[in-house]
Amino acid sequence: MTVDPIVDTRTGPVLQMRADRIVAALDTFRAAFPGVRPFYATKCNTHPGVLRTLHDAGSGFEVASFQEIETLTGAGVRAEDLIFSNPVRAREQTARAAAAGVHRFSVDSVEELHRVAEEAPGSRVYARLISGGQDSVVPSEGKFGVDATGAVRLLLEARELGLVPYGITFHMGSQMLDPAALQQPLRDVAGIMDRLLRAGVRLEMVDIGGGFPAAYDEPVPPLAAFGRVAAAGLADLPYPVEVFAEPGRCLVAEAGTFRCRVIGVAERPSGWWAHTNLGVFHGLMEVLESGGHLHYPIHDTRGTRLRRCYHLTGPTCDSQDTFARDVLLSADLREGDELLIGSAGAYTSVYASRFNGFPPPRVIMI
Ligand SMILES: *Cc1c(COP(=O)(O)O)cnc(C)c1O
Repeated sequence: MTVDPIVDTRTGPVLQMRADRIVAALDTFRAAFPGVRPFYATKCNTHPGVLRTLHDAGSGFEVASFQEIETLTGAGVRAEDLIFSNPVRAREQTARAAAAGVHRFSVDSVEELHRVAEEAPGSRVYARLISGGQDSVVPSEGKFGVDATGAVRLLLEARELGLVPYGITFHMGSQMLDPAALQQPLRDVAGIMDRLLRAGVRLEMVDIGGGFPAAYDEPVPPLAAFGRVAAAGLADLPYPVEVFAEPGRCLVAEAGTFRCRVIGVAERPSGWWAHTNLGVFHGLMEVLESGGHLHYPIHDTRGTRLRRCYHLTGPTCDSQDTFARDVLLSADLREGDELLIGSAGAYTSVYASRFNGFPPPRVIMI
């Protein structure tokens, strides 16, 4: 049997991305959040085909580095369609972004506000609010954000520094399963807008961030449920603003499938193990980041009716490389069989290394 070399997993794992599913996910997002402008969180999957597909479908892009800006402008994205939501940047990152025409920067400290005023004078700044996020599957661990009073102070000071006090953003934590998580941040935003208005500052934009869930091995609440909570919160703002969102995972996760190869099976006192040429360090890092709570749907291509439980682990000698436990697969699984790992389009290939000399996955668009 001849194998298409593009999808031949003998030379390493392959991540297949379906452009049609990305477009469908963007359509679903737009239907769930009418009037909200999506800026895809670039870090989630930076394959040029993914970026081009989203650009052609009319999405904007949220970036965290000048390198991402270069990739995007190289793919034909205009600077007006970018927002820079990483609240602390090296000076030269801000300067180079501004030189490339990016003019919207998030901040969550007075220190950064001053640096933006110096490196990108006159640009628009939006304050990053702290938000719970503890309940999301991949939490953001409280790294970023100011409280409401801090946001008011930052946006007032922005005006003093000759910047445009542009808006407010928050990020509820990735793979959030509770639509009500949008409620409190939007109430906080309404309060901040009121306080600023009394001080003579009118904002133009509210950015509801990312964190919207994708389906892994279990169904998740529909995006429309998040959309309804957002719409209610936005309707209660003291005056109308432009509304942005920064979806990442929910646009690309379900479009991706890993194909990897079983390189050996072993029966040990702890059970049956299948070793594959894909593991935590070659794309499945989020298994560790989520403390084992993210469960990818996994099938094998042998398809034997008789099933057996396997622990699945990568090719390296590192014991942290195990990415699934107690997965039912063909009882006679053997060397050379393939595993298909679904919902693998987000936060996978971008984390992959060459650890232990094993190649990272090849990403292909279909
Ligand atoms: C990572 C990130 C996102 C995207 O999060 P998802 O969970 O993939 O939707 C959005 N905004 C910011 C600021 C981020 O850091």
